[in-house]
Amino acid sequence: MYALLDANNFYASCEAALRPSLIGRPVCVLSNNDGCVIARSEASKAMGVKMGQPYFEVRHLEAEGLVFLSPNFTLYGSMSDRVMSLAAALGPSMERYSIDEAFVSLHGVRGDQTKRARAIRARILQWTGIACGVGIAQTKTLSKFANHVAKQADRKPGSYPREHAQVCNLGVLSRADVEELLAATEVAEVWGVGRRIGEQLRADGVMTALDLARLDPAIVRRRWSVVLERTVRELQGESCIELEDAPPAKREIAVTRSFGHPVTDVEPLVEAVSTFASRAAEKLRKQSSVAGLVHVFAHTSPFRPGPRWARSLSVPLRRPTADTAEITEAAVMGLRLMFEPGYMLAKAGVMLCDLSSELHQQCELDLEVEAPVRDRSKLMKAMDQLNTRYGRGTLQVAAMGQQNQLQAWQMRQERRTPHYTTDWRQIPIARA
Ligand SMILES: [Mg+2]
Repeated sequence: MYALLDANNFYASCEAALRPSLIGRPVCVLSNNDGCVIARSEASKAMGVKMGQPYFEVRHLEAEGLVFLSPNFTLYGSMSDRVMSLAAALGPSMERYSIDEAFVSLHGVRGDQTKRARAIRARILQWTGIACGVGIAQTKTLSKFANHVAKQADRKPGSYPREHAQVCNLGVLSRADVEELLAATEVAEVWGVGRRIGEQLRADGVMTALDLARLDPAIVRRRWSVVLERTVRELQGESCIELEDAPPAKREIAVTRSFGHPVTDVEPLVEAVSTFASRAAEKLRKQSSVAGLVHVFAHTSPFRPGPRWARSLSVPLRRPTADTAEITEAAVMGLRLMFEPGYMLAKAGVMLCDLSSELHQQCELDLEVEAPVRDRSKLMKAMDQLNTRYGRGTLQVAAMGQQNQLQAWQMRQERRTPHYTTDWRQIPIARA
């Protein structure tokens, strides 16, 4: 058996957890540079705000009490850790599937699992202020489906029977009851189906999750794909997708940003690109990889008038490395080679490619005496530890510039709430 725990309106709930005046109010969190809506509280959904809608289309709703916030990813990350550490009590192993979702294996867990899940859900709500839904079933796909039922039954009265609200355990239901729930669910809601395949299925007369579950897996494999076949088998109760303890190492790492204001000079661009390169190198070390190639790009905005400019350059590294200084050097060199003055640049980024494990390094004969191999992995480790302990940017390469002064290229985050949970200076003060 698996449980899937998923937080409700996670970003908006995190904001309300630390600012109780927002509870029950329409709140939207915007994307970087306050571009479009990426999270909505229940009340803002009721006002008709759509996911992904551009800010300028909905900003007039501010007059009606809608609160817009810049994203506070530091806060969401720290709240996620709190929620997940409590969710881990559900069972012996857990896969963090996204910032606000986790699959938990219930293998060997005895007793009433519904009651247990309700108790843990209540604890998460009381200790963190975040409301979650829990779905329990025989397979990951079914537990995802059960979670959908738990949330809808809670939010939309009449969608599913009320008793499934907040926690829905398919394991204790008869097959007929499960089929009734599947029949009440559109096929596109099934995990792994999505909108495009959902449309194709509907065109073939497969309208509901039950229709999909009743297909013959062999035919699905022939007509569609092995992936969809697995989904069908999982809906039928046959477990095909295992819990993943650790996310697979990424095959490329990208750090890209739109600038808060257009950048025209090379020096601020060097600072920006150095910052992205350092961040990418940090991510690289976190997954114990080394990179063989640094790709750097910059371009003007496709939405603004004026001359267009877009360039990118790949800089191969002599030896695969995870060294911040070497990666930054390569990115800055690439940037200086391709840069041309006179353009209003809106975005830049650094991508690390040709990744391999730091454990399997190809060595070479050191024939050139003048260029000995510098191994600074211990220095990098110390840098990561200091930055984890004292906050990002405590130790950085000099090319990143004086980041305590806000640079033009840095993101616009005019409506960001404080780092309540990760910075002593920003702890909220309650007054009676
Ligand atoms: Mg969620």
